[in-house]
Amino acid sequence: MSDQHSFETLAIHAGQEADPLTGAVVPPIYQVSTYKQDGVGGLRGGYEYSRSANPTRTALEENLAALEGGRRGFAFASGLAAEDTLLRTLLSPGDHVVIPNDAYGGTFRLFAKVVERWGVEWSVANTSDPAAVRAAVRPRTKVIWVETPSNPLLGITDIAAVAEVARSAGARLVVDNTFASPYLQQPLSLGADVVVHSTTKYVGGHSDVVGGALVTADATLAEEIGYHQNAMGAVAGPFDSWLTLRGIKTLAVRMDRHSANAARVAELLTSHPKVTKVYYPGLPEHELHEVAAKQMKDFGGMVSFRVAGGEEAAVEVCNRTRLFTLGESLGGVESLIEHPGRMTHASTAGSALEVPADLVRLSVGIESVDDLLADLTQALG
Ligand SMILES: *Cc1c(COP(=O)(O)O)cnc(C)c1O
Repeated sequence: MSDQHSFETLAIHAGQEADPLTGAVVPPIYQVSTYKQDGVGGLRGGYEYSRSANPTRTALEENLAALEGGRRGFAFASGLAAEDTLLRTLLSPGDHVVIPNDAYGGTFRLFAKVVERWGVEWSVANTSDPAAVRAAVRPRTKVIWVETPSNPLLGITDIAAVAEVARSAGARLVVDNTFASPYLQQPLSLGADVVVHSTTKYVGGHSDVVGGALVTADATLAEEIGYHQNAMGAVAGPFDSWLTLRGIKTLAVRMDRHSANAARVAELLTSHPKVTKVYYPGLPEHELHEVAAKQMKDFGGMVSFRVAGGEEAAVEVCNRTRLFTLGESLGGVESLIEHPGRMTHASTAGSALEVPADLVRLSVGIESVDDLLADLTQALG
């Protein structure tokens, strides 16, 4: 599949030429661990053992590489498995990482509770401000980690500006592109070195699979990541790879609807008397709306807001919705609501990444927007 094709076409076809054996138009689930060799070392299709490579996973990896405009993609058992593999590929004891002041709680926990024990230092910067990132750089800064839009405050980082900071510091820029998906934003084209995904979210899109991915355009880095993916072994299984590929086929149409519905939800919340603040990069009053408009095709399906009356009032709203399901995760076709302080971001309590107690996060699904607006209106009371 040529790189010249547009996103929607690549989503359906890249890495997914008809199966050479049967002509099956979608990649079969190669539920297999090992492959017959024709004499020692005589591999028929290049496959040897399914931790190293599996045809269904290869299809997903080629597809992800095409969608992000990268050279190679790597599929993992979860987003955090992808992050862990990347960090152990890039870092050694004594190295330093700049992490954002708003990020997925599990990413923060990985740095603060796991990677730190292996002698890697980290410090927090407001990545929305490239000067603050530059100020946080130390002589041994090897990685600048960015999430844009960020979880759960929908902060925006100017990827091209921070890529410049990373280049001059001799550090790698890693962008967690989970909230945007490759349909809305392609960080490699803006100067990022590696893109991270929790494919559990929009890429998979149906709340039925946990997975992660790394994509890079750098040949040397791709070799190193591939080596560590095999050496560490946190790979995506064939069935999970197949489910993720199935989800990706509709990524473009889903993201269009997620974005349209979320814009309407943000508009409703902005004018609601019980809502004190709305976080959505599509709102003109968002502090980096212009940057978001420059680097994203649309503004995505995530909306957060603060409720008058504090933590208890926010928890009440979460308990009162009927169509928005109360639950962690995001990016599926169904709408979800959650209280980050007590749920997804509990691990950030007491840190620089702590979230406001009166915050509610919505993953706006692709149901009828009128039904979604009615549900939020009744829940806010
Ligand atoms: C969920 C999430 C992760 C972690 O991914 P898992 O698949 O849950 O391991 C990383 N980054 C962001 C932005 C997320 O939302």
